[in-house]
Amino acid sequence: MVEITIKEKITLKKILGHFSTITRHRHVVMRNCFKMGLFRQGLTHDLSKYSPVEFFNGARYYQGNRSPNAREREIYGFSSAWLHHKGRNKHHFEYWIDIYKTTKAPGNPYGIVPARMPDKYVAEMIADRVAANIIYKGDAYDPWDTMRYYEREKEIVVNLIHPDTLNKMEFFFAMLGEQGEDATFKYIREIFLKGKDKGRWERELEEHRN
Ligand SMILES: [Zn+2]
Repeated sequence: MVEITIKEKITLKKILGHFSTITRHRHVVMRNCFKMGLFRQGLTHDLSKYSPVEFFNGARYYQGNRSPNAREREIYGFSSAWLHHKGRNKHHFEYWIDIYKTTKAPGNPYGIVPARMPDKYVAEMIADRVAANIIYKGDAYDPWDTMRYYEREKEIVVNLIHPDTLNKMEFFFAMLGEQGEDATFKYIREIFLKGKDKGRWERELEEHRN
């Protein structure tokens, strides 16, 4: 058995640093969600980060420039804070992963079945990813960062995300890069969520796929 001896100290400085990061993050997500017309989601986004398992692990492995979950994983091989988080927060595609043991689809030998994410959670995921980039990058933030981050993880996550969700994510990451946040959030509010011009949305999504 492998003995894990690394025990990172939890300090007041790390507690305050972590509290500040998650609270600033929540405020940027709130602002983004409000621009999309998602008021309840904006107000309740990531509240589970203040629960003991998420908060104290986040503080103990606080990094400042990247997620503490990444550090927790380096040490233990998994992050208990993340498992708690993704099990409760529908704006993460990981929440929607199911296992269906009788599935024998080619390329899917383990029966991993990603369920389709409802649109309001796809929108909240966009708000969340933009905020994460803004908080971690600060002045160096660039509107293509959300796409860049996704491209780095794509190979790993592509089979874990429902094709419909993946298509919408890629559509909006490209729009963010090309048109910026405000235009994208307005489009999400009016065209994507409210369905003001359904024909336009379906046509543009289809054009993007090709
Ligand atoms: Zn979250």
